[in-house]
Amino acid sequence: MSYTFEKTFTKRWEVTSVCLNFMNFGDFYRVRQDKKKCELCYRDFTEKDMAHLAFVKGKKNHLICTECATEAVEGGAKSYDRRKQNDDQTIQTP
Ligand SMILES: [Zn+2]
Repeated sequence: MSYTFEKTFTKRWEVTSVCLNFMNFGDFYRVRQDKKKCELCYRDFTEKDMAHLAFVKGKKNHLICTECATEAVEGGAKSYDRRKQNDDQTIQTP
């Protein structure tokens, strides 16, 4: 007989800004094979996914998926779109 204790941990990240459309994950993976999952929700990236870069307070930058990037930006993180670097409109301040 045994008893299994179960504990769930909550992790919090404070995303201050997101660099949208950082890289196609397929391209990123050719250079860096150490990251295979979104660093916030741990969903596996696929070759076709767009990877975004989140700037997390007190931590290194995180490679994140579209769902997490959208959530962070809608929640108030600043966003910056690499595809439209010359467009002032893309830098949004809350
Ligand atoms: Zn994610």
